[in-house]
Amino acid sequence: MSDVIVVGAGVVGAACAYYAARAGLDVTVVDRGPVAGGTTGSGEGNILVSDKEPGPELELAVLSNGLWRTLAEHGGFEFEAKGGLVVAETDEIQRQLTDLAAEQGVEHVTVGGAELRDYEPHLAGDLAGGVLYPQDAQVQPMLAAAALLRHGAESFGHGTLRLRLGVTVTGFVRSGDRVTGVRTSQGEILGDAVVNAAGTWGGEIAALAGVELPVLPRRGFILVTEPLREPLIRHKVYTAAYVTNVASDSAGLETSAVIEGTPAGTVLIGASRERVGFDRTTSVPVLSRLAAQAVALFPALREVRAIRSYCGFRPYCPDHLPVIGADPRVPGLYHACGHEGAGIGLAPATGHLLAQLLTGERPDVDLRPFRPERFSEEAA
Ligand SMILES: Cc1cc2nc3c(=O)[nH]c(=O)nc-3n(C[C@H](O)[C@H](O)[C@H](O)COP(=O)(O)OP(=O)(O)OC[C@H]3O[C@@H](n4cnc5c(N)ncnc54)[C@H](O)[C@@H]3O)c2cc1C
Repeated sequence: MSDVIVVGAGVVGAACAYYAARAGLDVTVVDRGPVAGGTTGSGEGNILVSDKEPGPELELAVLSNGLWRTLAEHGGFEFEAKGGLVVAETDEIQRQLTDLAAEQGVEHVTVGGAELRDYEPHLAGDLAGGVLYPQDAQVQPMLAAAALLRHGAESFGHGTLRLRLGVTVTGFVRSGDRVTGVRTSQGEILGDAVVNAAGTWGGEIAALAGVELPVLPRRGFILVTEPLREPLIRHKVYTAAYVTNVASDSAGLETSAVIEGTPAGTVLIGASRERVGFDRTTSVPVLSRLAAQAVALFPALREVRAIRSYCGFRPYCPDHLPVIGADPRVPGLYHACGHEGAGIGLAPATGHLLAQLLTGERPDVDLRPFRPERFSEEAA
């Protein structure tokens, strides 16, 4: 019998398990697939404060940013503290960007159009300016999830961490109202608490417990180039339109240029957003748009070949905020899902705060904006 069962071995489940084990709890992580086989395996790995509106998500992002840096000291995954550069096509957009940066209150540097190439020598010449966010960073998300689980399984002299892969959760074990474990394809697993870290499938896990959680898939494609001999792009670079797309409620296709190099030499080109269910069909029109936007920003990419693309389904909640906390409708059930396009960045803060809840500590951040029951309150 575990203290905690974590459903989902993506980056969020891995972070929950890591911090819970570190806090002295015995943890079992259950996933129907491999580690990072869900959306974590199809993200880009940006850890951003730059794209967050002032408010609860930014607070979470700032906490998480610091935690990622501490975790990176243990090693085991790629971590690049490269900074993010948001660029503006017009003077008006540049004004909006600088206003946003001032409201966010995080570390930033306003960059004039003439100085942009000091930061990114290969940028197009017709941009009005930008804002540099030194705190933005990048991880390789699959390695990061695996490293968190590995570090969590190492002895802290307190808790333990066990991993059960290839095991599908099909229901809950209950004692009265209280959840006391999960039913799975390989029998029951008992625990004092269950954490729903099933990402885009978090709504399905909640439904198994008889509660509603509106987590929907928001598809995104990434285009990957051949490895470059010399790094072309120093920071994570994206256009101001990305911030608007992230916050948008539209179900239709939205794309904006989001570009970064990787330690392997490839360049990742995103990002698209659309709500089309779990359709994995490759969309050449979407990929063409991403490629065109990337070339407009970095003309040198015109000579570079794209070698592959992939897509994933961001776990999207209607108010764009994740679901983090105990579910008052089902004692013993906790949620840590619905992080949309920021789950990699926000994973350590989510895991840290949930571990505080599980051990009866007061969370460092006010979790009310993320409470699981907020959607049913709205409907009432
Ligand atoms: C194109 C794209 C780019 C992105 N870029 C970034 C980025 O740069 N930065 C960032 O922060 N975020 C990014 N994201 C978002 C990020 O990838 C997700 O928010 C994050 O990976 C979610 O992690 P998770 O652990 O919650 O979910 P997942 O990684 O999906 O893990 C959930 C796990 O639950 C398991 N599961 C589901 N149902 C069951 C069941 N019944 N029984 C057992 N196991 C089950 C699944 O197998 C899965 O492994 C991007 C997403 C996409 C699609």
